[in-house]
Amino acid sequence: MPRKSDTAHQMLTLIMSMGNDGILQSELWKKMNADSREGSRTIIRLEKKGLIERKKELHEGRWTYRVFAKRKLSTIDSILNVPCAACDLENRCSEASSISPDKCLKLTEWLLNLEKKKQEISVSENK
Ligand code: SF4
Repeated sequence: MPRKSDTAHQMLTLIMSMGNDGILQSELWKKMNADSREGSRTIIRLEKKGLIERKKELHEGRWTYRVFAKRKLSTIDSILNVPCAACDLENRCSEASSISPDKCLKLTEWLLNLEKKKQEISVSENK
């Protein structure tokens, strides 16, 4: 059975790959090969960490949610080494906890590096 953090990481990667269109929860469960209980548990953990947001949407006559990544990245490659994927504190990390993405040095450094790389790419594209 995959670790919870692996599932969350795969789900976040998938949501990020959908860009501004986001993805309906039901499609997400299908792509993840997850049942709605398992999928909901993971999505709520990502939401608590402030990594995704859900917007209510009427789809085929039923209310559901469309899920969006809060942080938009330019390429999928850029998130493959997100520190949360291999973090031992992942289970205890949430916005409401003393261990949270906002206070995490590893994540901050990773995001700063990513931003630096994006700026370098944008500078080289504008040359
Ligand atoms: S402690 Fe940092 S690296 Fe670990 S899951 Fe939380 S934000 Fe990610």
